[in-house]
Parts: sequence; C-alpha cells; structure tokens
Amino acid sequence: MFRTTCLSNIKRFPLKRWASTQARPALIAGKTRTWEVIVGLEVHAQINSRSKLFSVTPTSFNEPVNTKYSAFDAAFPGTLPRVNEECILLAVKTILALSGRVQKQSSFERKHYFYPDIPAGYQITQHSNPIGLGGYIELGELDGLPYPLKIGLEQLQLEQDTGKSIHDIQPGASLIDLNRAGTGLMEIVTLPDMRTSLEAGLMVRKLQALLRAVGSSDGNMEEGSMRCDVNVSIHEPGTPFGTRCELKNLGSVKVLMSAIDVEVQRQIEILESGGTVYQETRGYDAVQNQTFKLRSKETAPDYRYMPEPDLPVLQVTDQYIEQAKQQMPELPDVRRSRLIDTYNLSLENCNTLMAEPGIAEYFEQISKKHDPHKTLSWVTSELFGRLSFKGISFSQNPVTQEQLGSIIGGIEEGIISGKIGKSILNLMMDGDSRNALDIAKAKGWQQIEDENALEKLCSELIQKNPEEIQKVKQGNKRVFGWFVGQIMKETKGKANPALVNSILKKHLDY
Ligand code: ADP
Ligand code: MG
Repeated sequence: MFRTTCLSNIKRFPLKRWASTQARPALIAGKTRTWEVIVGLEVHAQINSRSKLFSVTPTSFNEPVNTKYSAFDAAFPGTLPRVNEECILLAVKTILALSGRVQKQSSFERKHYFYPDIPAGYQITQHSNPIGLGGYIELGELDGLPYPLKIGLEQLQLEQDTGKSIHDIQPGASLIDLNRAGTGLMEIVTLPDMRTSLEAGLMVRKLQALLRAVGSSDGNMEEGSMRCDVNVSIHEPGTPFGTRCELKNLGSVKVLMSAIDVEVQRQIEILESGGTVYQETRGYDAVQNQTFKLRSKETAPDYRYMPEPDLPVLQVTDQYIEQAKQQMPELPDVRRSRLIDTYNLSLENCNTLMAEPGIAEYFEQISKKHDPHKTLSWVTSELFGRLSFKGISFSQNPVTQEQLGSIIGGIEEGIISGKIGKSILNLMMDGDSRNALDIAKAKGWQQIEDENALEKLCSELIQKNPEEIQKVKQGNKRVFGWFVGQIMKETKGKANPALVNSILKKHLDY
C-alpha cells in the first residue's frame, strides 16, 4: 500500500531559520494527458567492514584480481558461513541512523541465480525477514529552500555481494574475479515516495552522506560501492499506480536522474499512444539518452527462495542496540542544525563546511580559539580557493588547523596584516610547516606597530600632497583611502592599518 509522507511534516522541519518552503513540483504534462510519476529505489551499499559478511577473508577494494577469496567465497563443498559481527554492528547503526526499527530476530535465506560470478548458485540474503524495518530520510532542502519531505523506507537487509564478471579482456571469454564475492551489502529499499528525478537524486545524496557519517559504507556510486536500482512508473492523478520498470547499472547521481527523466518520457509516449508498459528491467544508454530492455522482471518464484540451513536466526539484543546507539557519531542533519545555530551560519556556508568529511571539524577546532566568521572566511575563501587552484581536495590539505589558526590569531593580535596572512598561507600551501608567527619573523613580515615610525611616514606624505589634503578636508573618502594605501605601499603591507588610519585621521582632521 502506498503511504503518503509529504506535507504533514513541515511543522517538524528542524532548521528554524529557513524562511519559506519550496513547493513540491507539479505533475508532468504529456501531449494529451497529465501524469504523476512514482519512483522507488533499491540501494545496495557495500559494507565498510574489514572482512566479508560470512568469511574471515579481508574485504578488498583495489587488490589484484582473485587474491582475496576463501574456499567459502568460492563455494567449495563443505565450507560453512559464519556471520561477521562487524557487519551486524554497522548495519544496526545504519538502521538507527535511518530512524528504522532493528528487528530482534531476523533470518537469512538463499536466493537462486545462475551467474558465473555467484559460485554457489545462490546469494545469501534477507528478503522476507530482514534486520531493519521502516525508517525514513528527510530531504530537507532544495536549492537552499526548505523541502521537508520524508522518503519512507521499507527495509534494510543484509546480503552478499557477487564476484565480478569481466567481459572486455579476453575476446570470446568472460573472466571472473572473486575478490568482491561475499562482501557484505546493505540493501536499502525505499517506499515509492518520490515523484521526480530531482527527489530521487536528493535522496541518494542524503543517503550517501548518512552512510559516510555512520561509517558503514563509502557510498560511492562511481566506484560501485553503492549501486542504485530505480523503479519508475506513471499514472493519471487519482488512479492507481502504473506498472513499474526497473532501471539498473546507473553509475552516478546525474546519470540516475537523466535515466528517470527519459524513462518517464518513454512511458508517457507508450500510454498516450494506447500501448502497455510491461514490467521489466532496463538499462540506460547515456550517449543515446535512452533506456533499453535488459530482461523481463524476475518474480519471487524465479528465485526459489529457501531458508538458509547453515545459519541460525540472527538475534540482536536491546543491550546491543543500546551499545550501538552510544557509539553513534553526530549525524548530518543534527550537525547542520547545530553548526547553523552555534556559529550563526547561513545554510549555504554550512553546506560548504559539510561538503567533505573533516572540514566541519577543522572549522570548529579553529573557531574554538578564534572568531568563527573570520575563520569561516579563511577556510571557505582563502584556503578553498588555494586548494581548488591546486586541484586538490580537502583530504589533501597541507595546512594544519594549528597553522591556519596561527594566521587568524596573528591578525587578531595585530602582529601581521591580512595581506601578509595571505602570503603566509601561500607558503604553507607549498609545504612550509611552521606557524604564521615563525614565518613572519623569519621573513621580516611582522606588522609595523611603531607609532613614531608611522607618524614620521604619515607627516612626510602629508607634506608632499597639499592638494590632496584639501580634498580630504572636504570629506572625500576616496582620497583618504589613497593616503592609507600610500603608507601601506611604502611599508610593503606591513604597517598596522588601524594605526595608520588613526594617525592620518588625527593629522587631517578627518
Ligand atoms: P519487489 O519486492 O517485487 O521487488 P517491491 O514492492 O518491494 O517489489 O518494490 C520494489 C521497489 O519498487 C521499491 O523501491 C518500491 O518503492 C518500488 N515500487 C513499488 N511499486 C512501484 C510503482 N508502482 N512505481 C514505482 N516504483 C514502485
Ligand atoms: Mg520488495
């Protein structure tokens, strides 16, 4: 049964400062009729555990082929599965982070496929009695405006990943790499709660951020550690949902969104010309921008599900769930609200700080000692500008939080000017590991605080420019700025600008 999740949640929307709410997109107009789109996702996220789901073989993400598998992973007769507790803990944490229910008892079953990359001929999964039920993800925002839509979840189940078939190395043959075989997956199934490609894209991004924060998966679609199957159907408003097609092998959020859009158009054309949409699994060709049939949809009987006889019921106690709760890191939505409230940040700035792991921690460490707004600008404009100029990500940032803090502190204390601070940051970007004050001292870049010396420079300048003085006295701000600029130029940016200002003001009666 379809469950409505949307607009009643507005009241509970957490970010107080957001002014207005974005409307949910309208229906799609075809040539002759209007359609509502239904999207549901089945996400497979590889579990970030050290070893595989049912064997002690280390998980391998970039190893030479066929170097990381055990007799069990290769389905040798007589080998038996044994649950890896680390996978259970990560799954339990993920369910809690998704506000789902952890089932005290869940069970495993065999789902049969005959593919060369599944050596056993079946996958151990949890189709009918999974470890996690329910839960939701709140989309939160769209283009900086509130979008308080909750996408409901049906379940989270544990299952094995397959090996990989490689078709493009040896002509006429498919090669099998078993490194991935038996790696733990969390399959997260959503309710059919999304209505547009944009909502589906946002949902995937939010889920990725959540999995990364929990540490249960890298959630990387490009590298295949997260794979999303998308179910799409259309119907006329007020009528039952239409027949869905499942889109597979979508390598990025962008591709996923394009595939939904073009599939919706295909279904509209079929239905408007009197045809029938058949339930099938389809691929997406990004070059042609069209979906194509892979196979008709398997139904449950095709899989010949049977209970897994070699694994007992999986029991999770209240105490275990409590322990998992205690170990939970701060989740993205909670962190976003907290950062906005604590530091009075705009949503946009906050999102910048949360764009990559570690940035928010870096910002907060520096902000403990220095002004948060100055820190924000040093991190998001000065530091990020230089990182992007070098084409590196924050994870490769060579400037420690102590170093950047020492620049901001040096400016706060009047020891260096802002301009010198930027030159110091350039040196740090190039690998200088000293703090700002040591660099300034070594380079002779400390700010000139000597009032007598500055007095002298100012009076010389004033004597040489009698005409300009008249303009300042008539209230010309720009010319006053010119005087300040001259002194800064003469001292190579080292004069304390506040001091120069006050000396000039005194001399010019400004
Ligand atoms: P099955 O178990 O047969 O694969 P489910 O009912 O569990 O089918 O649904 C699988 C996925 O398809 C879920 O993500 C769900 O949200 C989605 N879905 C179900 N019905 C529709 C529909 N009419 N249109 C689009 N997606 C749908
Ligand atoms: Mg199902």
